[in-house]
Amino acid sequence: MSPQTRAAQVGAKLKLSWRVGITQWEHDDAFEMLLELLGKRRRIVDEAALFDSITHHLYIPLDKYAGMMNVASRRMEALRSAGIGSVGINVLCTIGHINEGWSYMPPLPFQPMVGHDGSVSRSCACPNTVAFRAYIRSKYEIVAKARPDFIWVDDDIRMHHHGVAWGCFCSTCLATFARSAGRAYNREELLEAFNDPAQGRLRELWVEQNIAALESLLAEIRDVIVSVDGKIEIGLMTAGPGWTTYSGQALDRWFAALGATKARPGGGFYSDDAPREMLVKVHECGRQRASLPPFVTEIQYELENFPYQRLKKSATALVDECSLALAHGMNGIAFNVMGTPTYADDFAHWMEAVLAARSLWEKWLEIVGRLSTSGLWPAWTPGLVARRKVRPNENWLSWSDQHNINQSMVLAEIGIPLASDRCRNPVVLCGRIAEALSDDEVRSFLASGVLMDSTALGVLEERGLAHLAGVKIAKRLDNGVMERFTDDTLNGSAAGKLRDARIEFWGDATGMGDVLEPSCAGVRVLTVIEDYFARPVGPGMTAFENELGGRVVVMGYAPWIFLHSAAKRLQLQNVADWIGRDALPVRVEEPVSLVPVARVAEDRKRAGVMLLNAGMDEIAEATISIRIRAQEIFQLAVGKRVRVLEHKYSYSGVVIRLRDIEPWGLRIILVGD
Ligand SMILES: [Zn+2]
Repeated sequence: MSPQTRAAQVGAKLKLSWRVGITQWEHDDAFEMLLELLGKRRRIVDEAALFDSITHHLYIPLDKYAGMMNVASRRMEALRSAGIGSVGINVLCTIGHINEGWSYMPPLPFQPMVGHDGSVSRSCACPNTVAFRAYIRSKYEIVAKARPDFIWVDDDIRMHHHGVAWGCFCSTCLATFARSAGRAYNREELLEAFNDPAQGRLRELWVEQNIAALESLLAEIRDVIVSVDGKIEIGLMTAGPGWTTYSGQALDRWFAALGATKARPGGGFYSDDAPREMLVKVHECGRQRASLPPFVTEIQYELENFPYQRLKKSATALVDECSLALAHGMNGIAFNVMGTPTYADDFAHWMEAVLAARSLWEKWLEIVGRLSTSGLWPAWTPGLVARRKVRPNENWLSWSDQHNINQSMVLAEIGIPLASDRCRNPVVLCGRIAEALSDDEVRSFLASGVLMDSTALGVLEERGLAHLAGVKIAKRLDNGVMERFTDDTLNGSAAGKLRDARIEFWGDATGMGDVLEPSCAGVRVLTVIEDYFARPVGPGMTAFENELGGRVVVMGYAPWIFLHSAAKRLQLQNVADWIGRDALPVRVEEPVSLVPVARVAEDRKRAGVMLLNAGMDEIAEATISIRIRAQEIFQLAVGKRVRVLEHKYSYSGVVIRLRDIEPWGLRIILVGD
């Protein structure tokens, strides 16, 4: 194999798209500057998407809007003449984003979105009224008549956080709900019912109403676009499930309704302030990508520095973030960095960085193609909010960290590869997520490999499934405890080491000091919880192979914080290998800040591994095990020549050594025959 020969066999062409703010194209002077900027860098401009509005306030009178689309139509022709192959419109507001510009923007002439608390959005609409639908049909008809190659349907299409927290509780929506629920509720009655533990069906019906509202809206938008020109490609912008699944996260139904073949999974990561947060965003986008129906062929990651500040995001972070997004299965980037009409100094440095990275990204896509992500899969479900349990005195719509699907993202920081595809990957089960899963789904997890926390164990206990984890919760401590590693072989050289997460420091420590008690023979104790005077309290972490053949590890002590010691990292790597029966695709031996994302062929004869140094130190040397038995291994990096790497064979694959990886530096390893 070589990067050159593999290119002939796989598809997944890279598309680099630039989203262009209206102030960049509306007036002639700014547009001339834009043409010059893009023209000089044509090699990285596959597509340009013109924002149709400067404001996230939905309502713009249609005559004014039509005038702007006339200008947009001319601009698109000019961009095509300049050689850009794909030019279209990004409709910024469909429902609206947030409240903006309300002091002078015309108020919505139709029903605004109403929140659960009775608050009324100033800028965003209820998607269900006849008057709104008429407006939005006209708006998209005007866009389609401007002859774009594509239309992006934006505002993250959702029913939450549109200037009101949770929508929509207007009279139209309540009347619709009365029909499906079989009785009428006013807003207050409905909220009370949502917080009633026994009203699970009502909560599911409400989320279904959210899904259906967006589905029928998108179907109308499709109809009107197709009626003007069936050749216009349609794209849909979505939000991530880690934010919330209140809107239903029904990507299959929404993309089908819209007939969208383009996707832009979204999420928030805007600056260098906390650079490791990029790991969460790319995974969130990976989850959305994995949820898309197969007819969606173009998946653009949104790279953003909103609200467009030159010094808030470095070019290094930009390249790392985009690279990891491609690692998680996207095959394009939508650069949202050109919002305001400034000059080239504000974004040229990012464009230069993209120029330098393009060939690397193309090689990655050519070679890994549509291989699945491989590693531990943090479990989630689109039905999480709809189907989670509500316990007495809980508020269904409040943020619940026990239902936070991103808690285990910290595993990436200690070098454990995380997968955004379920496939046959071992599972990470956090908090109360299992409440939203069926018994069959949970059993299927437990029949394979699972790393879970003791809060998840509590959910299993309620369901009569805890015996498959081999333990139960003996008592719950929330202060003054740490854990000591036993001499179990899974701890290796970490036996005897201590881990102290100082659990009282971070708020409520429930679930941070759960003492476990074996309920079956054969349970291995990996850590013992101790108090600060070395007095043992009981098992804090266990491993068990159950009657289904599954391997289950339970963590009772501070499961998702401060896993970054050399000892804990070693233990968790061994645990990840054990539950995955040594099929984990990649392992970094030294305790260095290398974050791997792996794509592996089903026959395990081919793989691509992206490794990011997510730390401020140079990594002088790192030993990497890749669980593929292959003849040829290549290393790629931005601005460096392709290198053939020497390797040794181990019992499970190959071992290579990487050297001199600069802070926030990226390496790609391609393995195959
Ligand atoms: Zn409504």
